[in-house]
Order: sequence, then C-alpha cells, then structure tokens
Amino acid sequence: MLGRSFRLGTFAGIPLKLHWTFGLTFLFVLFIGLKYKRDYSEIGVIFLLLIVMFFCVILHEYGHALMAKRFKVKTIDIILSPIGGLARLEKLPSKPIHEFYIAVAGPLVNGFISILLASILYLASKPIFLNFNGDLNQVDNWGAYLSLILGMNLILFIFNLVPAFPMDGGRILRSLLSIKLGKKKSTFISSFIGYLFAIAFILFGIFSGRYILAIIGVFVIIMARGEMSSARQEDFLFNNYINRPDLLNKLEFRETSLMQELIDCYLAKKGNNFMIFSDDEKLVGIVKEAEVKQAIKDNKFNAPAIEYMSFTYATSNMSNLQTALVSMNQEKIDFIVFIDDEGKPSIIEEYRIIEKMMTL
Ligand code: ZN
Repeated sequence: MLGRSFRLGTFAGIPLKLHWTFGLTFLFVLFIGLKYKRDYSEIGVIFLLLIVMFFCVILHEYGHALMAKRFKVKTIDIILSPIGGLARLEKLPSKPIHEFYIAVAGPLVNGFISILLASILYLASKPIFLNFNGDLNQVDNWGAYLSLILGMNLILFIFNLVPAFPMDGGRILRSLLSIKLGKKKSTFISSFIGYLFAIAFILFGIFSGRYILAIIGVFVIIMARGEMSSARQEDFLFNNYINRPDLLNKLEFRETSLMQELIDCYLAKKGNNFMIFSDDEKLVGIVKEAEVKQAIKDNKFNAPAIEYMSFTYATSNMSNLQTALVSMNQEKIDFIVFIDDEGKPSIIEEYRIIEKMMTL
C-alpha cells in the first residue's frame, strides 16, 4: 500500500492509521448521492453506515492484532483503506497453530458482533433480518439500523472465511495444512484453491454483470502469487546454508594486487567485497565496496590493494541464509566472511542472496 496515511491514535499499543484514499470513499458516496438526486439526510445515513462498517473492520483487525500479541508477535500498525483494513504484523508466527488463531480471530469478531446484534433484536422483538432493497426509507428506526449492521458483519464474517488469499480463510487453510504438510506445500495448495475461487469470482462476476466480483477475483490472483513467491523465498532462506557455492565470493587477492584487478571484478559483478591474502595464504583483510568505489573516484587504479584494505569484518561458521541475513541487518553490514571446516574463508554477500531470492 503506497502513500501517506494519517495516524488516528494508538489503541492497545497499536497505532491506528487512515490511508489518504480512505477519504475517497466518502467523496464517492457524496458524488453518487448527488448524481442520483438523493437528499442530504439519505447521504447522511449512508455516511453513518459507512463509519459503523469501518468501525467493525477496525475491530476485526484488532482481533488479529490482539491475538498476535498473545503469541508475542508485534503489530506494526493497522491501516484502514477503502478496500478494508490491514493489520501489519512484524513477522509471521513460527507455529502454524498460532497463525491459525491469529487468522481466525478477525472473522470471529464479526461473528461475535452478529450474534450480539441478533440477540438484541430478538430480545426487543424486532425483525433480525431486514429485507433491504436499497431503499433507505426502509431504514427508519433503530432496529432497522442494527439489522443492516448485522448484515454487514455477517458479510464480513463469511467473505473473510473464503479460503483464498488475501482473505483470512486463505491463511486459516494454510495454517491447518501446515501442521501436517509444512509451510511451502501448504501455501501451494491453498494458493491453488485460491486461484480456483478467483477464477470462479471472475467468471461469475462477468456473466452476472457483478463486475466488482471480477475485480476482487483478479486481486485474489495477484495476492496468491505474492504468497507463493514469499513462501518459496522463505523456504529458500531456511533450507540453504551460507556454504552454497553459487552464492560465495571466493576471489583471492594479494596485498600487492593492484586496485585495477579488484575494480575489474567489481565492474564485472563478480563481487562487491574482496579478500586479501598474505603470501602464506592467510586472510589479512578485506577491501570493501565503499573502498572500491573510493579508489574508482580517486582514479587510483594502480594503487596496491593494501592501501584500501580494512581489518574489521564479521566472520561466521555454518548458519542458514535466514540467520545470515538477520545478523547482517542487525550489524548494518552487507557481507559476512564465512569460514569453512578447513578454516578456508570466503565471502557471502547480502546482494547475492537477495538476487537469488528474486529469481524464485
Ligand atoms: Zn482479517
């Protein structure tokens, strides 16, 4: 989601933000209302219903966020836009069952509101379901309002349980499958089911003239693709280690090597950082990317590498790529020197891991 959003406040430690396009919803209603010559009181009713509906969406998102908090997963913020709300979690919970609880908590909030409203209407002997035909004159008493809000919450409840990404149902299905099948396979299966739903949405939307469903279908396909590639990337990072030969930069230079040789390798994209060895094959230092760039800027092609060498760098033994990326991020560095079992060093660079990930 791009662009500015405005902070409404912080509730339960989670910032609630409005995306700027949110205002468009109200302008759109006003525009349609005036075009069809509705009077202001009718437009006011729609505004009120919209606000209540978005309030229910906020409660839905807080359902996810507060459940995530129980499993020690922080929510960065909740952003409200015309297409709905989004609770941005800092990370995915590691246990599938936790993902299940977090995903199911949102729709359950709307289910709970529906039951609550139905009970109130029942106790007040008001009709629970309004046979709403779009005529706002029908909404002339509090019972009718509650009944409309009940209907909106039921739609939110059912729609979010459709087992397709980005709906919560997609996550619920994935987390349940993950318990037995692991995350990658489950994501593929639930994305595939998501595709089937999306295609059904699109076809039904086109043939019935409900184009909004067709648009949702296209949206679902895009989201399912995103989920699949992020599952592939996650799988790659967790199941590959920093000794992967195609990721390692094993180039060796001497203290007397000229910067020209390093610059050639740099420009040929063979690496960004270079190891310098002594004559008895010991790693003595690294010429880092910033220093290579400096040498290019200074026109020092004939300077010996030792002049641009630095001595501080992080070393690591075996770890998976995920751990390597996290530690690079924490230390604000873009490479690690990997020492293999025989004590032989090579360089693993952040950009190579990311380049590889992008091809997945
Ligand atoms: Zn949700």
